[in-house]
Amino acid sequence: MNDSAFHYVDGALHVEGVPAASLAEQFGTPLYVYSRDALTRAYRAYADACAGRKATVHVAVKANSNLAVLNVFERLGAGFDIVSSGELARVLAAGGKASNTVFSGVGKSAAEMREALEAGVKCFNVESIPELHALNEVAKSLGKKAPVSLRVNPDVGAKTHPYISTGLKSNKFGVAFGDARATYREARDMANLDVVGIDCHIGSQITEVSPYLDAVDKLLDLVEQIESDGMSIRHVDVGGGLGITYDDETPPDIGDFVRTLLAHFEERGHGQREVYFEPGRSLVGNAGVLLTRVEYLKPGEEKNFAIVDAAMNDLARPAMYEAFHRIVPVIERKASARLYDVVGPVCESGDWLGRDRELAVEQGDLLAILSAGAYGFVMSSNYNTRARAAEIMVDGERARVVREREEVKQLFAGESILPD
Ligand SMILES: *Cc1c(COP(=O)(O)O)cnc(C)c1O
Repeated sequence: MNDSAFHYVDGALHVEGVPAASLAEQFGTPLYVYSRDALTRAYRAYADACAGRKATVHVAVKANSNLAVLNVFERLGAGFDIVSSGELARVLAAGGKASNTVFSGVGKSAAEMREALEAGVKCFNVESIPELHALNEVAKSLGKKAPVSLRVNPDVGAKTHPYISTGLKSNKFGVAFGDARATYREARDMANLDVVGIDCHIGSQITEVSPYLDAVDKLLDLVEQIESDGMSIRHVDVGGGLGITYDDETPPDIGDFVRTLLAHFEERGHGQREVYFEPGRSLVGNAGVLLTRVEYLKPGEEKNFAIVDAAMNDLARPAMYEAFHRIVPVIERKASARLYDVVGPVCESGDWLGRDRELAVEQGDLLAILSAGAYGFVMSSNYNTRARAAEIMVDGERARVVREREEVKQLFAGESILPD
């Protein structure tokens, strides 16, 4: 929980200056609530540590793509990292600039490439040779040169850091380290591509700096080879992936993380190289909570269940990754606690939000599911024809609806029955 944005006053959970219970009363549940202050402080931690260096923060839109959230970052001077043309449209709608946006993703379509080139994105993070050819063709048809960096798979730390899942040889992302130099030479020889950088993204919820240092070392070795092949690498993009505290994890502080990485570039004699960061979770994860109401308590011989009105369609992470989110009462009770599995109403055994949680709750109580700002609403679905939750942004004493709760009739508005 973010110390100052989410806190108790006389046993009542507050989001900045607003009681969480009053938000639930006013806007209903389930309800996503974000703190502008928490978003701002996380962003500033990155930006302040980058000050005085050629280093840029590109917010990973996929972690939380609400327009108000993106706009908070845009006002703070952020760039963006997108993985689809849909996300590009969101960045533009939120006031962001294509010229500050990098386009990542393993399967960009020709149509997406065209849109991004026409909009003028800053760089395409390309992940394979066929994608280089496709981008070269699209750029040629538009009479443009596409700025590219290759996402290299540095194959770091598999054994010591098993939670790193995207930087290994065995996954679908990036160009294999051993193939990277030759792939760069191919890119150099394509007339409508302009090689400008190199990038990697080694995984997510990483709680140590060492795998990043290993990745930077491998990338810089490559940069030296690529430059000796006649290309100039203006920027090194270290990706995102810095972890947050959901439970008892102790990830490095954002500022320390950035300073350690930038110092490592200096130690390697690359202090003048421009560095890009692509944080998602570490900016938004602990800036949001999901409020839910207890519908029923169902005591049992083996388990007690607290059945709440939020479900796996609202917050998929527990069902999808067995992810842990702290669950706390919105109004603290003096009563003694019992162990509950906190579950939703969806017809799946996988529909749980927390297991074996010690809670003092009664029917009708409100609970807050913490650390829900990243990969929360963005992964929500309409499974069981459940309308998606509203999203609220708190700013000091004020709360604004930044996405209206869906209405059921919207959910099948595009459907039709057969005419005969
Ligand atoms: C998802 C993603 C990010 C952000 O990852 P976090 O773990 O949320 O920081 C950054 N870059 C790329 C290419 C991604 O796919």
